[in-house]
Amino acid sequence: MDDRLRGPSDPVERLAALRHEFGEHGGVNMSIEASTTFTVMEAGTMPEIFQGTLGPDAGGCYLYGRHFNPTVYVLGRQLAALEGTEAGYCTASGLGAIACALLGLLDQGDHIVASDTLYGGTWAMLSEFLPRKCGITTSFVDINDAKAVAAACGPRTRVVYAESLSNPTLRVTNLPMLAEVAHAHKAQLVVDNTFTPLGVTPTDHGADVVVHSLTKFVNGASDFIAGAVCGREEFIGSLMDLHVGPLMLLGPTMDPQVAHSISLRIPHLPIRMIEHARRAQVFAQRLEQAGVKVSYPGLESHPDHQLLQKIGRPEYGFGGLLTIDAGERAKAEALMDDLQNAEGFGFMAVSLGYFDTLMSCSASSTSSELSDEALAAAGIAPGLVRMSIGFTGSLEQRWQQLERALRRVGVIA
Ligand SMILES: *Cc1c(COP(=O)(O)O)cnc(C)c1O
Repeated sequence: MDDRLRGPSDPVERLAALRHEFGEHGGVNMSIEASTTFTVMEAGTMPEIFQGTLGPDAGGCYLYGRHFNPTVYVLGRQLAALEGTEAGYCTASGLGAIACALLGLLDQGDHIVASDTLYGGTWAMLSEFLPRKCGITTSFVDINDAKAVAAACGPRTRVVYAESLSNPTLRVTNLPMLAEVAHAHKAQLVVDNTFTPLGVTPTDHGADVVVHSLTKFVNGASDFIAGAVCGREEFIGSLMDLHVGPLMLLGPTMDPQVAHSISLRIPHLPIRMIEHARRAQVFAQRLEQAGVKVSYPGLESHPDHQLLQKIGRPEYGFGGLLTIDAGERAKAEALMDDLQNAEGFGFMAVSLGYFDTLMSCSASSTSSELSDEALAAAGIAPGLVRMSIGFTGSLEQRWQQLERALRRVGVIA
């Protein structure tokens, strides 16, 4: 990607360099553009909007709420600044963003090479929905095995797909290697960066398109389902094409009120990510010392510790997620029960990136779309508890709660 168009190399500096959007009456916060349709001043303008000679970036003309909306576009620009892309636009969900990014890049008969450890919904979309409904097939491989990725690429491979940090196995994707292999096969690298906003910037390592579930860390309050696609201006524009654009025609439109709320939380995303990671690092180290089977990329014992050190931004640490293997499903469930109902440490809930800690047993919840063989191949043990570490309460108070619960259910002696 052209560095001149991306501005400063630091995402926080790119965000600060964006034009500040004031409210209609000079308010420090922007107004919400709540209209679904937009007036033109002269009848002749309408055909020009439909022909694409006028638009949001050409004459400031908007058309209809399912097409570009000014408030949603502001959040899209914030996401683009975050990810270092020329453009970005938002969707009603993360899966909406993923589906539209892929349908924008692929035609019937095309092929994807994807990681064998993916978010369950994405896995179902690639393994079942896309082949059946669209004739788009996927080969799932160990995504850090360069030879396996190259071997899976064929003449119709247009996309290589991975998550920056895999869910729930917390394996780090070797993005520089993957970009090289993808580009050698004339495929585009699409990366889901939901787990590591700011910590990893996939475009710094050659990714072409970045997708997000904004539902998680970016929003941070677990009150909106939302997503985003970031990429080159031409690509984002093509998603809104009136004839073949998936964002325009499938209609996963983000509501401007949602865009407004989320955009007000972007300025404190860096502070939140630092605190999620700081606490996760302390807990992971203490858990490891206590003999618990813990996985966290910030631990030297983690197989991808050095890789994340190399491709990540050190000031954001190693992310807000860790997993504990309680050994068996019953023990995992007892632990979560105790942590929620006796200790008040966090909540048993899927999702992540909330200000409080969220816990789920991956094999029987968010990864239950996977078959038993696929679960085993991906290394998702039945007693694996995924924790998205929150930042409410004090760190010591939370650690004491966690330690007491682990003792009570017998995970530590
Ligand atoms: C949650 C999640 C999604 C799906 O996002 P929604 O906003 O729920 O549609 C996709 N990828 C990852 C990594 C996720 O965690």
